[in-house]
Amino acid sequence: FHVPTAVNEPVKSYAPGSPERASVSAQYQAYFNGSVDVPMYIGDQEIRTGNTRNMTPPHDHQHVVGQYHLGDKSHAENAIDAALEARKNWSQIPWTERAAIFLKAASLIAGPYRAKINAATMIAQSKTVHQAEIDAACELIDFLNFNVEFMSQIYEEQPDSAEGIWNRVEYRPLEGFVYAITPFNFTAIAANLPASAAMMGNTVVWKPSDHQIFSAKVIMDVFKEAGVPDGVINVVYGDPVMITDTVLASPDFAGIHFTGSTYVFKEIWKKIGENIHNYKTYPKIVGETGGKDFIIAHPSANPKQVATGIARGAFEFQGQKCSAASRVYLPKSMAEETLNFLKEDIASFKMGSPEDMSNFITAVIHEGSFDKLASFIDGAKNDNDAEIFAGGNYDKSKGYFVEPTVILAKDPKYTTMCTELFGPVVTIYIYNDEDWSETLQLVDQTSEYALTGAVFSTDRYAVAEATKALENCAGNFYVNDKPTGAVVGQQPFGGARASGTNDKAGSSQNLLRWVSPRLIKETF
Ligand code: GLU
Repeated sequence: FHVPTAVNEPVKSYAPGSPERASVSAQYQAYFNGSVDVPMYIGDQEIRTGNTRNMTPPHDHQHVVGQYHLGDKSHAENAIDAALEARKNWSQIPWTERAAIFLKAASLIAGPYRAKINAATMIAQSKTVHQAEIDAACELIDFLNFNVEFMSQIYEEQPDSAEGIWNRVEYRPLEGFVYAITPFNFTAIAANLPASAAMMGNTVVWKPSDHQIFSAKVIMDVFKEAGVPDGVINVVYGDPVMITDTVLASPDFAGIHFTGSTYVFKEIWKKIGENIHNYKTYPKIVGETGGKDFIIAHPSANPKQVATGIARGAFEFQGQKCSAASRVYLPKSMAEETLNFLKEDIASFKMGSPEDMSNFITAVIHEGSFDKLASFIDGAKNDNDAEIFAGGNYDKSKGYFVEPTVILAKDPKYTTMCTELFGPVVTIYIYNDEDWSETLQLVDQTSEYALTGAVFSTDRYAVAEATKALENCAGNFYVNDKPTGAVVGQQPFGGARASGTNDKAGSSQNLLRWVSPRLIKETF
């Protein structure tokens, strides 16, 4: 079988007067002024418990756009039962049928659902239209199309045979169900974590982030219309610890596909260990967690290029990317010029509601995040080891707005050089040019996480030195580019150390975690 060759979905411009701008604006208004009621999805049921929580846009937190229904332990248990029931058929149908369903889902998002998924992401996750288009439309479409292609390559990969012997591999789904826990910051990741496991023949219990439920609903509408059978992907909301404890207590728990915080992932890993004697099979544990991603510039680097890398790497998407640049090392000889360019870039960023499509950045996701960012910014204002170079203001009266903020740190181990903040705050340390090699060692020693990083240099030898010295500091390492914006099919994404299991999102390596191959040797 040859599936269609995947190509990256072109990003639409949403230029004033364009039809796509008109349709996403209309959808934004309809959702913003409407009231969506989001059920849980368990088997063929839409469950409305009446125990609801309001959904409010982070950029307008007093405005209610809908509600979702919270479940209890019995709902998590029912979701497991529904997944196991649906597995009986789903695991047996030809993979080409599953491929066709997910290709159809991709085409629905590219077409009739594009404005819906973008508007839901803009409203409930506070993304600008351009951020939503890159994430909820293009990256999500790419994940589906490319994973179908990778899936076909996996199924076609067979061992050699010999005279009188036929060796063959069946790529069976895991024996049990898969649990997906997904983050608020990417609609694409939220859809991909359940979808990639389901594509390989598994059935799934999915717990989306409380702050991503609007777009999760649109994803479920798409999956249903594309033909994903009832019970293949079951969605539950509620107390996360309760849901997770219930899921991990099941003997049929066979794997977790996780994106979220390092702390939560480690707690889950520990609980899996506590339950290990109950499981029928060793569960697969796949997680992408935090990051404290770096940019280091060599004295040979181009200051303008470095400034743009910092501005885009740190502040696009409000800095709410695991990959966002949050600690920067600049050589003294080019620091002033780079900082001046950076100030110009930041001054050009307009901040406000996604409704105004000329805004470049919007609000951070919730009050907890806002308060954390504000307290670290205040800390830097009051600390002798740090100063605020740009930004530093914040305001939560209407929405959770934090200005793009640059902190200059005198100490390379200053708290904001080491702590993941997950927002539009970057800290810069200026090193002496002659300490380049020592600074590389310092970056390595302070890399508790190892997700992304970037080196800027026009000196080939320095690039090679940094690439070697920082080999364990980033799963995605960028030369003369910002450390964000991995494109599916081009830069498989993931990191190690405290950043995750490095099972590259958008690759056959990831899909292989969701199968349990059986080798059959037949002799004649
Ligand atoms: N894949 C995204 C990037 O390369 C980041 C995903 C994340 O934040 O988890 O920027």
